Amino acid sequence: MIITDSEEKISELCARWRSEGLSVGFVPTMGAFHKGHLSLVEIAVASSDRVVVSIFVNPSQFGPGEDLEKYPRTIESDCKFVEELGASAVFTPRADVVYPPGFSTSVSVAGITEGLCGAARPGHFNGVTTVCAVLFGIVKPDLAVFGMKDAQQLAVVKRMVSDLRMGIEIVAAPIIREADGLAMSSRNQYLSREERNQASLISTGMMKAENLFHMGERNSEILRKEFVNTLKDAPLLRVQYIETVNPETMLGVEEIDDRVLLAVSVFAGKTRLIDNILIESEV
Ligand code: AMP
Repeated sequence: MIITDSEEKISELCARWRSEGLSVGFVPTMGAFHKGHLSLVEIAVASSDRVVVSIFVNPSQFGPGEDLEKYPRTIESDCKFVEELGASAVFTPRADVVYPPGFSTSVSVAGITEGLCGAARPGHFNGVTTVCAVLFGIVKPDLAVFGMKDAQQLAVVKRMVSDLRMGIEIVAAPIIREADGLAMSSRNQYLSREERNQASLISTGMMKAENLFHMGERNSEILRKEFVNTLKDAPLLRVQYIETVNPETMLGVEEIDDRVLLAVSVFAGKTRLIDNILIESEV
């Protein structure tokens, strides 16, 4: 497996693979791998001939006062994990490679980015779409895998790729959870023991809301209340948002037809955790 921080090297490598008729799969990440990231790499390896994983803690998607400096960085062990899974290359660019002097472009997707994390983290999605556009331009993958854990990010990237005719298949990977239901996240390691215990209520609350739906409830407000109610005895948790939205457009849904995305952001102490569940009628 090749590990490089050189844009020239990775783009030459990918160009060579394409010229040999090999398909290229891509998994963009910020590193500090857990089983969620690794599941994306497994999907990419199963569906393409060569897989490139990028590790880049992208400054432009962090807001002032967020955790850019303290974000965990574990590049050596990350590389070992993905090599074992069959990745062909890891691209670890420096910020001045991704954003060289004179870089002046910002990719901005309207609409889908306005609510949820877009409202909670102004500028975040411009950072995400811009870095994805740059990385897609370097790697020129046939497909790229994104986790449903970041459901709004997935919808935004799909929209960008479709609107800009980038010709990349975007593959959605299911959310990988800890045994007690907490969605895996590089940020879970910030949690104190007590915060970690209480954080399991996030998935419990979402599942309770889903149960209500399966019992026939179609009013979103009642599902949202069920979630909030589940967290009421957890003093270290604070709900930042709880929304019921269409999973493609991210627009709010009040009376549910047959599917809705319940998306939440909850602070456990100072750590912001996001999670979601796609609630659907059984066929
Ligand atoms: P990050 O390194 O946090 O930017 O995440 C890189 C990719 O991994 C994104 O596509 C995330 O949606 C995905 N991801 C993160 N956590 C999980 C998880 N628990 N299950 C599935 N995918 C995940």
